[in-house]
Amino acid sequence: MRYYKCFSNCFPLSGYRNYVIYDVSRKDVFAIDKPTFELLGLDIISEELLQGLPINRFSELLDKEIIFQCPMGDKNLFPFIKTNWCNPFSVINCIIDWGKKSKYDVFKAIDQLDSIGCKTLQLRFDSYAEKNHIIKTLKYTVGKNIRGIELVIKFNEDFIEFITKEFESVVSIICYSAYSTGVKVYNNWQVIQTVELFIGSEQCGVVSPSYFICNNDFFFESINHNTCLNRKVCVDSNGDIKNCPSCSQSYGNIKDTTLEQAMSHPDFKRYWNITKDQIDVCKDCEYRHMCTDCRVFIKDSENSLSQPSKCTYNPYIAKWQGEEGYVPVEECGTYTRETGFVVNPQRVEELNSLIWKE
Ligand code: SF4
Ligand code: SF4
Repeated sequence: MRYYKCFSNCFPLSGYRNYVIYDVSRKDVFAIDKPTFELLGLDIISEELLQGLPINRFSELLDKEIIFQCPMGDKNLFPFIKTNWCNPFSVINCIIDWGKKSKYDVFKAIDQLDSIGCKTLQLRFDSYAEKNHIIKTLKYTVGKNIRGIELVIKFNEDFIEFITKEFESVVSIICYSAYSTGVKVYNNWQVIQTVELFIGSEQCGVVSPSYFICNNDFFFESINHNTCLNRKVCVDSNGDIKNCPSCSQSYGNIKDTTLEQAMSHPDFKRYWNITKDQIDVCKDCEYRHMCTDCRVFIKDSENSLSQPSKCTYNPYIAKWQGEEGYVPVEECGTYTRETGFVVNPQRVEELNSLIWKE
């Protein structure tokens, strides 16, 4: 009898209706059925059990290198990977907003980020920001620890060409007020553009498959922390220091408070350890460890564990808004602040039999 084992960097995950495998090293996700999900969770899987799966599934798992042949006596040589998440930096993610009324010292904020070792920074400029100011700000980051800058600016083809040639640290550009929405290439660069008039705090928190991320770091962070707010610090367009620019609570202003002082406030980190496994509805979603987790735009502002309000996916019936058969999550159960969302299995079964003809 031959035996097989699931590669330890492939994680089977169940949603309420769907099952998937996250191949986090290859940055890929595969849909699977329930029997396959159950087998992949075993310590070691016999060939006989695998042959009982739906046709071609066994060979597909081998072809995709989800499983490998493993002699029974060797099974302990391939232990499960530990899913804890470590990062040496106190801040891994920062947003700096600059707008029409901004008067604060942006260079002071960059210096402080540099000294605390922040590596990635999103600079968001509204349509009033002068090109000279944007260039000056980017130049100021040169030679600092900050290695990856995402720039959000008003669409201007010549300016994009210039930035992509001059600033190696700019790794991503997102443009608003563009002629069309999509991705365009400039100097071998993919620039995301949208016809939206602005991308600021109000536009944040959108949930879409195009924002899903599957990789080692994101997956392990998601299991242990909130993937949007963990170790994030922001300076909004007034210079106020927040966990994210859309949060209402400020922990001081950059003119008289340091980022470190703001972050030492006991409330600053209150969302950092909220994981998707605790969030209403998301805990039943197969996408939960590749989806970001907005804690600002949520369905019940008084309940920090309620579902992101901009999500248009219903994991109980595996349908996105706009797809045939979609109904909102609210039709699949009931919500109260005390209980959170409680699914109604009978109603879900009825819906699934109508939609999926089961
Ligand atoms: S918590 Fe929400 S609003 Fe704040 S940065 Fe994340 S997605 Fe945007
Ligand atoms: S239900 Fe939650 S995890 Fe699933 S797509 Fe929506 S926001 Fe993401």
